[in-house]
Amino acid sequence: MNLPSHIQQHFSQIPEFDLEAFESLEAGNFPTIIRLNPGKLNASPYQGFNIQHEASAFVLNERPNFGNDPLWHAGAYYVQESASMLAGAIAQQVLSHHTQPLVLDLCAAPGGKSTHLASVIHPHGFLVANEVIQSRHSILKENLKKWGSDAVATTQRDPEWFGEQTPHAFDFILVDAPCSGEGLFRRDPKAMEEWSEANVNLCSARQKRIVMDVWGALKPGGFLVYSTCTFNRSENEDNVAFFAEETGAVVVTSQFEFLAPERINAEKTGFRFTPYSGPNEGFFLAVLQKPEESLKSKKMGPAKWTEVKSEKFPSFLSQFSLNERKIIETPVGWVSVPAEFLPLIHHLKPSSWGGILGTMKGKDFIPEETSALLLGFQPENALELDLEWALKFLQGETQLPLSGTQGWKTITYQNVPLGWVKEIGNRMNNYWPKGWRKR
Ligand code: SAM
Repeated sequence: MNLPSHIQQHFSQIPEFDLEAFESLEAGNFPTIIRLNPGKLNASPYQGFNIQHEASAFVLNERPNFGNDPLWHAGAYYVQESASMLAGAIAQQVLSHHTQPLVLDLCAAPGGKSTHLASVIHPHGFLVANEVIQSRHSILKENLKKWGSDAVATTQRDPEWFGEQTPHAFDFILVDAPCSGEGLFRRDPKAMEEWSEANVNLCSARQKRIVMDVWGALKPGGFLVYSTCTFNRSENEDNVAFFAEETGAVVVTSQFEFLAPERINAEKTGFRFTPYSGPNEGFFLAVLQKPEESLKSKKMGPAKWTEVKSEKFPSFLSQFSLNERKIIETPVGWVSVPAEFLPLIHHLKPSSWGGILGTMKGKDFIPEETSALLLGFQPENALELDLEWALKFLQGETQLPLSGTQGWKTITYQNVPLGWVKEIGNRMNNYWPKGWRKR
């Protein structure tokens, strides 16, 4: 790695950072890691080895062409930097005794950590995946839809909205903050050109604002995980000390030391991952707990959705897993949601939902084009395709092998549902979303 002198100088001032080891890395050469979707896959489709803090993750021996793997399009696994998986691993620890955990991923796009959190809390909890920047919403929605949990909604709100409008609501909040990105220099050497001391200061101030603004939304006794993909102390340890000082939070990172014992910092307030000490890029993560105090949670008004009564469910819906779910009518169709969270969801006014099933048209139920990707979906009429045909389906091809019977069919690949087609006469309509089509 060729570091410009001002960055060398900056890194040399970070305690616990080995500048020489960092410079000896090869730019652009980074490991490929996947995390399996436990609702869709129970073994890695590629050869690899496990990482310590996440049993469902595999460091692959080679980088496959994921675009040519229908299982990747089906959300059967997610390609993710391994240190980032510590956030989900910690959520798993702290939420394991909660029966209905409510989780906020405040800075969620493109959704790597959200998909992990969705797995951790499925099916009894609920995840709000928030992304304030409009242009980053479509990729967040796509990744979450492919992951398939109906216990998820996305929102596009400022952190302070949650602090003010959903006080003491969340058991767990992840703030994966926008940062100066020093931990990504190996992967994306161009990021160095955008780096400056002034930007570090700007990021640090913004991170302080974000955490302070959302803090009110955390339940007393609840946990906030703060993370960045940068190395400097001002965005990491110094900010964590600031949060504790300002809010009275207790820094409890050391309770989770067992998850990655070699990565905890000297003062045991945060985990520091460096690309020269494992199969990961740079990452920092700390865990804060809110002290118990009197509960002031806002009473959410009654949910004003129109609920679809189970007597009205068409038989088509028996393919979906609707345990402990309510079905509500929304402008985007019938949506499956965990019953418990309806008032909160109503208050949030989500920008999108995980559990859009489809809609009634006259006497027929028309499935939403991504609903075959939902967890627990058991197709009544599956049309299993081999690799070549599955890729054609993902390209939007309509000349697929016909089953000979009319109506809705679910395309599957290696028995994992992908999407819908409808056979009409001797042709087929392909409902794989146009915006997701493989070129
Ligand atoms: N958690 C994501 C994942 O695992 O895929 C990555 C999140 S990225 C590090 C930080 C996110 O924060 C970006 O999507 C960015 O748009 C968002 N962001 C930027 N400014 C923000 C602000 N002022 N408040 C909240 N989020 C912000």
